[in-house]
Amino acid sequence: MTSPEEKTNNDQEERLCYTALENRSQELTAYIEAIGQLALVSVADRGGRILQVNAKFCEVCGYNEQELIGQDHRILNSGTHPKEFFDEMWATIERGDIWHQEICNRSKNGQLYWVDSTIVPLKGSDGRIDRYLSVSVDITARRQKEMVLRKRLKEITCLYAIRRRMEQELPMDEICQRIITHLTGAMQFPEIATAVIELDGRRFASENYSQDLAHGLQAQIVVNGKICGRLQVFYREDRPFLLPAEQGLVEAITDDLGKWLERMQAEAARKENETLIWRQANFDSLTNLPNRHMFHDRLEQAMKKSDRTGLPLALLLFDLDHFKQINDTYGHAMGDLLLQEAALRLGSCARESGTVARLGGDEFIVILGELDDPDTVERITQDALRKLAEPFRLKNEVAYVSTSIGIAFYPADATDPSVLLKSADQAMYAAKSQGRNRYSYFTSAMQQAAQVRMRLVNDLRGALADNELLVYYQPIVEFSTGAVHKAEALVRWQHPTRGLIGPAEFIPIAEDTGMIVDIGDWVFREAARQAALWRASHHATFQISVNRSPVQFHSEVSIHSAWFDHLQKLGLPGQSIVVEITEGLLLDTDAAVTDQLLAFRDAGMQVSLDDFGTGYSALAYLKKFDIDYLKIDRSFVHNLSPSSNDMALCEAIIVMAHKLGLKVIAEGVETAQQRDLLAAAGCDYGQGYLFSEPLPAKQFEALLQTTRQSI
Ligand code: C2E
Ligand code: CA
Ligand code: CA
Repeated sequence: MTSPEEKTNNDQEERLCYTALENRSQELTAYIEAIGQLALVSVADRGGRILQVNAKFCEVCGYNEQELIGQDHRILNSGTHPKEFFDEMWATIERGDIWHQEICNRSKNGQLYWVDSTIVPLKGSDGRIDRYLSVSVDITARRQKEMVLRKRLKEITCLYAIRRRMEQELPMDEICQRIITHLTGAMQFPEIATAVIELDGRRFASENYSQDLAHGLQAQIVVNGKICGRLQVFYREDRPFLLPAEQGLVEAITDDLGKWLERMQAEAARKENETLIWRQANFDSLTNLPNRHMFHDRLEQAMKKSDRTGLPLALLLFDLDHFKQINDTYGHAMGDLLLQEAALRLGSCARESGTVARLGGDEFIVILGELDDPDTVERITQDALRKLAEPFRLKNEVAYVSTSIGIAFYPADATDPSVLLKSADQAMYAAKSQGRNRYSYFTSAMQQAAQVRMRLVNDLRGALADNELLVYYQPIVEFSTGAVHKAEALVRWQHPTRGLIGPAEFIPIAEDTGMIVDIGDWVFREAARQAALWRASHHATFQISVNRSPVQFHSEVSIHSAWFDHLQKLGLPGQSIVVEITEGLLLDTDAAVTDQLLAFRDAGMQVSLDDFGTGYSALAYLKKFDIDYLKIDRSFVHNLSPSSNDMALCEAIIVMAHKLGLKVIAEGVETAQQRDLLAAAGCDYGQGYLFSEPLPAKQFEALLQTTRQSI
């Protein structure tokens, strides 16, 4: 405890000391006033009580001399320098060294100003450093200019960095996090800035973010004219400077973000659209399998791979047998279901080891690449045949199909993709003609056959115009009388170089190419002309059968009514012509078929069911369509002997046909025994080499003369 005397003593001592300092400070006064810069003398005790200031100092900091003298020099602290900054200053002064730095101070009205300070330590009479002299130059204007520049630079780097992130297509979260990092870093005092992005209900915040922060900047994120979020920057402490440039930066970033999101949305939409277009161009919409276009790409790739590895590849072409009948019987929707199911089954056999594609219709193709094991092809083919032969359950129906498969190898069979495909197609065609439900490997013989076929197609186009087609007639003999009042018209082709070609060789081609319509029409007109002649010269009810292919029933040009007109023009009744159709046609549910069959009946033309027993025996249809004749296929007649199975079959067919009111014609009668057995079984007519081969009209007429004589 100090006594009042002691206190007086102490005060006196302090005043003495202070006066002494003052006296010495006065020595500086002239200098300080003369210097023209900010000058201050302060006690050098880390507290820094101000002893002296000049007018310039007061002018800049806004305090007057009375307000400053005796005050702690920290009155001017701006709070922007870290503690270490002043520690270093004091350490320098205490060492007796000159300290030089740029300092940011706060003026009386709260404004910050910058000075370039030089601090010189001053020693007392005892040689100890007791004060310092600070001489400063006001650099606020320069500093502010610099700061704006530096901030601009920071902003530019920040924007640049954010744009790069966006261009790199980083995930959205990553971009938001990076924006925050860059943004807080770009603010003048990163340690006191925090940022938050709210986007589509999600929130991204800087680590030091706290809920109570209120003071800050914000801007909205707009995508396609719609506000979908905002970006906010907060300051953890009152900010000395709040530059409009910072708001500008925040706005620039949200603007960037919005535009980027817009671009991303457009890009995503474009990609989605592209994917859709690509899918439509490359995949079959019914089965989702690659389509023909994609198949070609894959095939080329597989061929290149085969070239590299030296391992062959196989092409397996699948064609469902009689698929059209499924469509006709059950409808197209069911047909589609079957194709989808078939695609799945094929995929289960081959997808692991190759590409399965749909070429169109009921045609599928499999590419088996890198065949190091030759058994692979055989195994997959067998597997596929078996799987495709299993019943197809389509809603409430059960359908069966078989498949024909053609196989070709690269590079052995062909080195060109389209030739390879053609080879597989030829092999498939061979499998079909060998009886379907089987597979066939491509051979060079097939290629030759295909070439012959191609040449025939070309030649056939001119055949009709060049009068190369002929109609032969084969008699149909009535068993009970031996009379010939009927004949079948059978077309022939007198080829300029190859000689006479039978219909078995060119009718399928004519059917495939549609030429059958014109050929069939021509045969009909020829037959009608002959019928008129023979009705006049030979027998009043003479009748000629013409074969009518299913293709003709589906032809766009409705020729059948033209046929009636033609008969009328010739003054011929409908009965002079019989139309021969095959069993398959009766299963065809197409209205065009039914309409034509009934139209034939209405015109008085008769209908004959050809090759009976080789196709689908749909007995119920015989009555429904008013069939007049049933022709027992020659395969039943061929092996006829008294107690054979075929005999029993023929007898049954004859009994049944008669019950339904149909007359029966046996085809391919070659021997007298066959004739006798058939006649005994009640068969009405016979046709075959026993009586005569098909003959040109002139020779047929001669035959008619002899039979007339023989009767
Ligand atoms: P198809 O309608 O079954 O005609 C009967 C075929 O059996 C004829 O063959 C005939 O020559 C042959 N044939 C007759 N008698 C015998 C015999 O005793 N034994 C044997 N083994 N065969 C006999 P072709 O003339 O070669 O005709 C073949 C097929 O071509 C015909 O079979 C028919 O489906 C078709 N065709 C012929 N001409 C035409 C036509 O103008 N239009 C259409 N769409 N098809 C036709
Ligand atoms: Ca026939
Ligand atoms: Ca026949």
